[in-house]
Amino acid sequence: MSTTEIPHNKPTLGIEEEQAALRVIRSGWVAQGHEVEAFENEFCEFIGLPRGYAVAVANGTSAIFMALWALQAQGKRVAFPVYTCSSLRHAVAMIGAIEQLVDISPGTPNIDLQALSQTGADIAIVPHMFGLPLCLSNLKDIEIIEDCAQALGASINGAAVGLQGKIGIFSFYATKLITSGGQGGMVISKDKALIDTVRDYREFDCRQDQNKRFNFKMTDLQAAIGRVQLRKLPIFLSRRVEIFKRYIQSGLKLLDITSELNIQLCPVRYRAVLQINSYSSRNMIELLNFRKIKAIVPLEDWELLGKNNLFPNALTLAKESISLPIYPLLTDEEIEYIISQINFLL
Ligand SMILES: *Cc1c(COP(=O)(O)O)cnc(C)c1O
Repeated sequence: MSTTEIPHNKPTLGIEEEQAALRVIRSGWVAQGHEVEAFENEFCEFIGLPRGYAVAVANGTSAIFMALWALQAQGKRVAFPVYTCSSLRHAVAMIGAIEQLVDISPGTPNIDLQALSQTGADIAIVPHMFGLPLCLSNLKDIEIIEDCAQALGASINGAAVGLQGKIGIFSFYATKLITSGGQGGMVISKDKALIDTVRDYREFDCRQDQNKRFNFKMTDLQAAIGRVQLRKLPIFLSRRVEIFKRYIQSGLKLLDITSELNIQLCPVRYRAVLQINSYSSRNMIELLNFRKIKAIVPLEDWELLGKNNLFPNALTLAKESISLPIYPLLTDEEIEYIISQINFLL
C-alpha cells in the first residue's frame, strides 16, 4: 500500500469536468444562463419529470428553504428527524417555522414514521439517510418535503426518490453522489404551481413587486460541471454497489434497508456504515486512522439536533456507527487493504 492516507470521501472529477468548466469560462457567460437551464432539463429527464419541473439553486440548504417558502411554512409546525444534517434546522429557523423533532426508527438511520404521524405537524422534511430510501405512501395529512441529498438515483417501486411528497430537494455538495463543483442544489415538484413559485423566488433581481427574496442562484460554471456529473452518475452508482458488495462479502456488518412487504426499495450506496458497539467504534476509528484509513462517525452524538435522552434510537446509532470510505475513485487495492485492517481489528 502507498503511504498516503485513504480519505473518507473524494469527489470524482476528471477531464470532462475540466473541459466543461473551460467551455463556460471561455464563453464569457458564467452566471445563471443556458447551462443552468440545460442542467435542469437533464435533471427532469433523469427523475422522470417533464421539462420545467426542476429549479437549480445554490445548495441543498437553500433548496430546503425555498421548498418551505413555497409551502408557506412560516409560523407552521415543521417536523424533521434529529439524526440528519443541521441544514434542516437552519432552513426551518430562517423561514420562521416551529421545529418538531422526531427520533429515527431503531436499526435504521431514517425518521420513525409512526412518531412523525403523531406530531400532528403541518409539514415534514424527510431525508433518505445514507442512500436508504423510505417509503412514504402511508403518511397522511402532512405536506412532505423529500430530502434526497444523500439518495440521488435511489427508487421506490421503480420511481425515483423526490416525487413522493409535494417537493423534493437535492444537494450537489462536494461529498454527495454528484457535485456541481463544490456546492449546488435542485428543487423538484410534480406540482407546476409550486415549482413556478420556487423559480419566481429565485429570480430576485429587477422585480416590480416588492416581495423580499434572497439570492440562491446556481452559476453556469457550476451547472456545466453538474451536467457532466449527472451523465456519469450511473457509473458512479454501480462502482459504489461493487464496493458495498465487497464489504458485505468480506463479512462486514453494514447498515442496510430492511425490506418492506410489497414495496421494492432500491437504495444507492452513499454510505458504508459499520455497526459496532460504542467503545469499539471510537477505538476502531483511531486505529484505522493510525493505519492511514480515514473513517468517521457519520453523525456524532453532539451533532444530533435534539436533546440526547429524548431520542434514544438516534443516540444509539450515533454512538455505534462508523462510516467507511466508499466512493468511485477508491481502488480495489485500497478496498482490500481497508477490509484486511478492519478484520484484523475486529
Ligand atoms: C448535505 C445535506 C443537506 C444540505 O445540503 P448542502 O448542499 O450542503 O446545503 C441537507 N440534507 C441532507 C440529508 C444532507 O446530507
